[in-house]
This record gives sequence, structure tokens and C-alpha cells, in this order.
Amino acid sequence: MQSAKTEYDAVVVGSGPNGLAAAILMQQQGLSVLLLEGKDTIGGGLRSAALTLPGYVHDVCSAVHPLAAGSPFFQTLPLPDFGLQYIYPTLSAAHPFDNGKTVTLQRSVTDTARSLGADEQAYIKLVQPIIDDWPLVAADVLGPLHFPAHPLAFARFGWKALSASSILSNRFKTPEAKALLAGMAAHAIEPLTAHGTSGFALVLLAMGHLRGWPIPKGGSQNIANALAAYFVSLGGKIETGTYIASLDQLPSAKAVLFDITPRQLLQIAGHRFSSIYKWQLERYRYGMGVYKLDWALAGPIPFRSQECRSAGTVHLGNSMAEIAATEQQTYDGNHPERPFVLLAQPSLFDDTRSPQGKHTAWAYCHVPNGSQKNMTEQIENQVERFAPGFKDVILARHNMDTTQMEDHNPNYIGGDIGGGSNGIGQLFTRPALRLSPYKTSTKGIYICSSSTPPGGGVHGMCGYHSAKQALKDIFNISVPKII
Ligand SMILES: Cc1cc2nc3c(=O)[nH]c(=O)nc-3n(C[C@H](O)[C@H](O)[C@H](O)COP(=O)(O)OP(=O)(O)OC[C@H]3O[C@@H](n4cnc5c(N)ncnc54)[C@H](O)[C@@H]3O)c2cc1C
Repeated sequence: MQSAKTEYDAVVVGSGPNGLAAAILMQQQGLSVLLLEGKDTIGGGLRSAALTLPGYVHDVCSAVHPLAAGSPFFQTLPLPDFGLQYIYPTLSAAHPFDNGKTVTLQRSVTDTARSLGADEQAYIKLVQPIIDDWPLVAADVLGPLHFPAHPLAFARFGWKALSASSILSNRFKTPEAKALLAGMAAHAIEPLTAHGTSGFALVLLAMGHLRGWPIPKGGSQNIANALAAYFVSLGGKIETGTYIASLDQLPSAKAVLFDITPRQLLQIAGHRFSSIYKWQLERYRYGMGVYKLDWALAGPIPFRSQECRSAGTVHLGNSMAEIAATEQQTYDGNHPERPFVLLAQPSLFDDTRSPQGKHTAWAYCHVPNGSQKNMTEQIENQVERFAPGFKDVILARHNMDTTQMEDHNPNYIGGDIGGGSNGIGQLFTRPALRLSPYKTSTKGIYICSSSTPPGGGVHGMCGYHSAKQALKDIFNISVPKII
């Protein structure tokens, strides 16, 4: 890899949003970059496919994109020129209750707050400062651990974000506001008593107000396609169907960036790492898995509440107590009968997803890592609970347990879709405590996946920071600051 003459300046292994972001940043600097993907299609967690019936397009993994729309790096790219169009559902998210009430995440802070009744002011007091401070803290939240550029703003954000959502929820009096927070915090895929879960909730809420929770027209695949088309337009090269199991398979390059998780990296390059770095990666922890369902539907989901029928995303878990209990049970290795379900209904807002008059829906729940249990009935019962008659509109379904998730994408170890546990112990030091988390112990080998800061989600910022580090170390190129 260190020879003066190489086939490529850089090779990126894995074409998820982070691999694509890394490849683009390096190609933008005029380097020659090859992007290798193990599967036959690009995109990693951005793939869409006809999983059920002809004419229905489903997002196999990610579906809703506040993080992509708000990504400081993606926002610098001309992605609309390469076919990416975001659609903004009428309501970003809805959270229904057994008693018929529903709370919603809307673009406007005041409208959202108003739906929380007695907690209207408490919501504004909690969320408005995060929105106001976002331009000051974004670089710190969306990057590696470092001394914050704006310490006061970061401290204001940090003391709320680092708390457990079960504690932060004490700011609210009403069960509705507590549950709204719990549903957002559960995206952390950790028990709600875990420190740092509030950060997930606050960022998702803030993004909802700052950017909305859009879906890409035609499916998440179109984010990957736009990124890839832009990369190729710059002169980048992509090869699919090339699964990398050994460094020997790679063409010569000055830098190799891996959009994969520590376990795979150890298998591929472990023999090149220092014993201490290997030891660190071996201790990397993976989080809960997911069980995923996609449906082709004869009509829209017949939610009892009008708000749910107008929302891109629906959180099905009723109260905070119920969500907290089921997430804890799952974390402890059990399969709750009424799991917290995250559901998206893209075809309500995007008529390219299904035949006319028909619909698609996407949902998953958390399960213990490596679980083999079929959770179809539990998930469908949860939907039916808030949408009586749902089962009658199902035309076809596609299910994926943790093994099938990992078959689809080898990064989903045991069904973990976050690239590793979001526990506070490794949230900021993923994959290992180092000056730069993107550098391995071997010169020229980098990790750029969601197993690095800022972690899971479609934002490309792990890839951006990793490529920035490689550009500095290997090519002596500094890229202008974007945040
Ligand atoms: C069910 C589900 C729902 C989700 N919902 C959302 C959502 O709504 N919004 C959101 O922002 N995020 C969501 N996510 C998370 C998001 O998809 C991931 O965090 C994101 O895709 C991680 O990006 P990445 O580039 O790090 O890795 P990935 O997207 O996982 O990409 C890694 C790529 O590397 C390839 N690869 C792996 N090993 C090798 C190898 N040895 N050789 C060659 N290629 C290899 C894989 O095939 C894959 O293409 C969801 C994920 C899942 C599974």
C-alpha cells in the first residue's frame, strides 16, 4: 500500500452512505478513488427493492431522513441535480395512545408544543434552546470527541443530551409529552434509563423542526443513487459484487477506508494491527437487533387517529412506561408481546412507491442481538391496536429476522443496525479510544462506517470525517471546514 506508484490513490470498501461520502470527499480533491461494494447493488442501508408484489417499492433499511436532509456534508453536494428529491409528509411523526389521543411532531415548535397541552411551555423550554444553539453545537455533535468550539452552547446541550431519557422526561407533567420523548429516545436502541438516550430524542426533535423528516421520492435508494452518480461524475469508479474478505484482494492504493464494523475489519486486516488496537476492537460491543416487516397494502393503514393518517412516521408504543418496559425487556434478552414499533408509510406521500390506490408500509421493532424469533404477529398486533382493520388490508408481507438482516448487509452484526451499541461507554469513543477514531493502528487503513462518530443514521458524517483524516495524513490535503 505504501509503494510510490499505485493503481488508485484511495479505495473505499462498502457503499453505504458513509462509504459514498468518504469516496466523494476524496474524489472532490482530484484523487483517483475506487469504491468497492460486496453486494450487487450500491447503498448499504439505503437500498430499496421490490420485496413484496410487482409495482411496490420498499425501503429495505432506512426510510425516513431527517439526518440526511440535515447532514452538513450532504447539504454541500448538488444531489438534486442527480435526481434526489425529498418529500415532506404533512406531519413528521405521530404517536397515538390507547385513549384515542395522539401527539405529533410538526415542523413548527409552537404547533408541536400546543399538541402537548399542559406541557406546551415545558416543550418549548426544552427544545427551543437546542434549535437556537444547533449552528454552534452541530460540529461537536456530528463529529469525533474533541474540545467543543462553543463550550457554553455545548454544555447547555450536553447536560440535557447526556441524561437518561427516563430522567429528562421528568420535565413533563403529561403522559403524552413523556411518551413523545420516549418514542424519540427509543431510536437509541438502548434502555431509556441509559445515559445519552436523551441526546437521540433531542436531535431527532430538533431536526424535525429545523429540516423536517423527509422521505426521498422513489425510495431511499435514490439518496445512494444520487451520491453515486455525483461521485462518478467527478471521475470516481464503482465496482459492485466485490466482497472483500482479505487485504490481498484490494488493488494497490495509498489509503483504504472501510465502511464496515470492527468485527469484519478484524477479520480482514486484524493481522496488520497492533496488539493493543486489536484488543480494543475485540472489545467493541454490538447492540440490540431488529425484526423488520414490509407490507403491500390494499389501502392506507386505517389508523383510528387522523393525525396518524397524515404522518410519515408513527411510533407505536402507547405510554412512556410501556416503551421503557419493553425496551428494557428486549435489552435483557426477551421478546415483549407488545414491542415498541417504528412504522413509516411512504406511499401516502409518494405515489411512485405502489400501484394507484394501493400502499406500502415499513416497520420494525427491537429484538435481542442475534434473535431468531419471528415477531410478525407481535408487530402486526401493535399496528392493529391503533388501526383496527389493518390486517384486512395486507396483500403481502416481507419479513427479516436478525439473520436475514445480516445476510442483506454484513454490517448488521446480529441484526444491530447502528454499527454497534450506543451505550455511553462507546458512544463517543467508537470504535476505540484514540486521538482519531477513524485511524487504525496501521498507516493507510481507516474505518469510516457508523461504528465511528457520530454513529448510526444516514448522514455520511462518519465517512466525511474519516476521509478528511486520510486526506490530511496521507495526501497532505486540508479540506475547508463545512461546520
Ligand atoms: C431496518 C432499518 C431501519 C433504519 N432506519 C433508518 C432511518 O429511517 N433513517 C436513518 O437515518 N437511518 C436508518 N437506519 C440506519 C442506517 O441505514 C445506517 O445507520 C446507515 O446505513 C449506516 O451507513 P454506513 O455507510 O455506515 O453503512 P451501511 O449503510 O451499512 O453500508 C455498508 C456497506 O458495506 C458493504 N460491505 C460490508 N462488508 C463488506 C465487505 N467485506 N466487502 C465489500 N462490501 C462490504 C455492505 O454491503 C453495505 O453496502 C436504518 C437501518 C435499518 C437496517
